Amino acid sequence: MERISPVTGSRRLLSRLRDVMAGAEASQERLNQIVTIIASDFVAEVCSIYVLRAGEVLELFAATGLAVQSIHTTRLSIGEGLIGRIAVQARPLALADAQSHPDFAYRPETGEEIYQSLAGVPILRGGRVTGVLAVQNRTARSYTEEEIETLETTAMVIAELIANSKLLSQEELHAVEGLDLLSISIDGIRLNGGMAIGEAVHHEKRIQISKLVSDDPIAEQQRLDQAVIEMHGAIDQMLEATDVAEGGEHKDILETYKMFAEDAGWLARISEAIKNGLTAEGAVDKVKNDTHARFRKQTDRYFRERLHDFDDLAHRLLQHLVDVNKASENSKLPKNIILIARNMGPAELLDYDRASLKGLLLEEGSATTHVAIMARALDIPAVGRTEEAIEKIEPGDTIIVDGDNAKVHIRPADNIKEAFVDILATRAERIASYASLRNVPSQTKDGTSVELHLNAGLLADMQSINDTGADGIGLFRTEIPFMNSHNFPDVRRQSRLYERIIEQSGGKPVIFRTLDVGGDKSLPYWENDKEENPAMGWRAIRVSIDRPALIRNQLRALIRAAQGRELSIMFPMITEISEFDKARKILDLELERANANNYKPVKNLRVGTMLEVPALAYQMPALLKRADFISVGSNDLFQFLFASDRGSPKVSDRFDPLSPAGLNFLKSIIEQCDATKTPVSLCGEMAGRPLDAMALIGIGFRTLSMAPSSIGPVKTMIRSLSIHDLRLYLNSLKDVTEHSLREKLREFAIDHSVII
Ligand code: PEP
Ligand code: MG
Repeated sequence: MERISPVTGSRRLLSRLRDVMAGAEASQERLNQIVTIIASDFVAEVCSIYVLRAGEVLELFAATGLAVQSIHTTRLSIGEGLIGRIAVQARPLALADAQSHPDFAYRPETGEEIYQSLAGVPILRGGRVTGVLAVQNRTARSYTEEEIETLETTAMVIAELIANSKLLSQEELHAVEGLDLLSISIDGIRLNGGMAIGEAVHHEKRIQISKLVSDDPIAEQQRLDQAVIEMHGAIDQMLEATDVAEGGEHKDILETYKMFAEDAGWLARISEAIKNGLTAEGAVDKVKNDTHARFRKQTDRYFRERLHDFDDLAHRLLQHLVDVNKASENSKLPKNIILIARNMGPAELLDYDRASLKGLLLEEGSATTHVAIMARALDIPAVGRTEEAIEKIEPGDTIIVDGDNAKVHIRPADNIKEAFVDILATRAERIASYASLRNVPSQTKDGTSVELHLNAGLLADMQSINDTGADGIGLFRTEIPFMNSHNFPDVRRQSRLYERIIEQSGGKPVIFRTLDVGGDKSLPYWENDKEENPAMGWRAIRVSIDRPALIRNQLRALIRAAQGRELSIMFPMITEISEFDKARKILDLELERANANNYKPVKNLRVGTMLEVPALAYQMPALLKRADFISVGSNDLFQFLFASDRGSPKVSDRFDPLSPAGLNFLKSIIEQCDATKTPVSLCGEMAGRPLDAMALIGIGFRTLSMAPSSIGPVKTMIRSLSIHDLRLYLNSLKDVTEHSLREKLREFAIDHSVII
């Protein structure tokens, strides 16, 4: 056997493969050449490439040294035989005596019985197994670590060929004996109900690497060193821009940074891959893939988070190596987008064309984050906490988002698609049945009326008043149009919008909430200092009081839009009475100004407040003297009451509003409002969940405000409920100290045939 240094050997092999890749031959022909080159380079009698196809089948796609008739005939399922084992474990395997391994599966059509040793590696792309590359020898040969490393590097080049060639076009995959594409499902949490099918679009564009194989390892190492320096610089700058000592999110970055700086092994592995003939970006990608393949089976949260860290670092490093603008995927988006992101702000969702945006998947997220609320406002089915969705989904994959069941089907098989079409039909029937409830009263079995209002934020939402038969708009989030704009809308623009909203309400009441910006509701055109805890930072009424020009313009626009009609205005995040007084004073100034300028006086001005900061609940007597109505914002209220971030996947569901503390708190508010006959409603997300709404009605709420899609289910619940029974039951739970009353309330609903 010719003896050359392993590194030189690897580079020589890669450069030969690169020539083949650049050739004009058909993809199958190039695969045939590749196996011949690898076999000769490895001095192996066999080299074979198996490709993972539909139905988790590994098909022999190219081979030298095996019987010709076995190509495209031999198929192994994942986990079957040694090849299947390599695929399922996503790890290399090298055996001097392969035939005595318990997993060895003999396939007579290949004629492989004469080969004793085997080395195989997974073909990985995006951290996913897409095939297996193997070499075999007649003698009992021990393969060295360097040889395995070379095989792994070679497998990367093959992964590119498989992904980019027509050889494995979607159509062909479908054509193979009617097999379907490999499909998987992921469970998550429901962010918004509904179902949709569409094409995957990654919110953060993946970096595409166009050049994998290099001629000059020294130059590539220099590029890597330079990129590492730049990355360090960029992270340092980020750290300098924030006060690290305060901890929180930025501290996480610092820790990741430190971990990276200490992880010499990670950089060493990248350098090793460069020595083996990859470009710097190819090497970063290879190590990213390897790390992913090794870590992905880990269930331990610590390891999984480290995997995220390594992914982030690799991504950052790649950004310094590749011209991202040139390398990012084609920006032309499909007409039926299923958007995939780790997390995103609500304004970012509005960057997408509403008509094309069909569904949303987030790896993180919780039901009360603003992006989820936005998804509900836009009525886009959405699922959160879809683990590894970014890795598992390729751009353009067919995706079914089943928001109702918090499930996602990736590359669904035909039978799933068919079932989905049936479900959609049934769902359409159910929605039609809700539509038929449009004109029936929202009344319990024992005759109590409950007003149902809508949460809205777009002009397009106004149509929902008509569709659902809702009693009005209980919360119009005025910040949404601001988020949807490229600059601050001036008074005239705002006034035109508010006027149309009032007109389209058909005389039903609309409660306009003044700007609630800040926190995660940032405006793209408004620079704001980063805060450690933005949800309880400079947001909502705090901004309005400190920068009154903003709210003055908005109030001016609202008064003008009313044109002598009724107007309801609500302030967000009021924490103490003096804030309400200040906001009210600004409003009075604007009313005077409108008067002086001969605008028609507002007919029945109602001024209320959100109750979403617990402190306000301890100033009720003073508040009730001032506010014409109160709307409980349970999303914020409970994040502050329980000290649990509504946007954090780790804690957002840790405490339940349907708990003794949650319900007692709300009950005390409602009793005080009732005593003074002050209208009170609840407009947080819990109002739209039938079981939660049932509990709210049980403790005394008679007005709820929710997303349009919740009106039907909540009205159905109300019409099947007897408040009398529920009251008795809630009384019996007075002394319960459990973490949550949810299960008990669910049992009550089932026992009393309440439709939840
Ligand atoms: C709330 O906090 O419950 C609420 C309705 O306001 P937002 O979700 O817009 O913060
Ligand atoms: Mg709020």
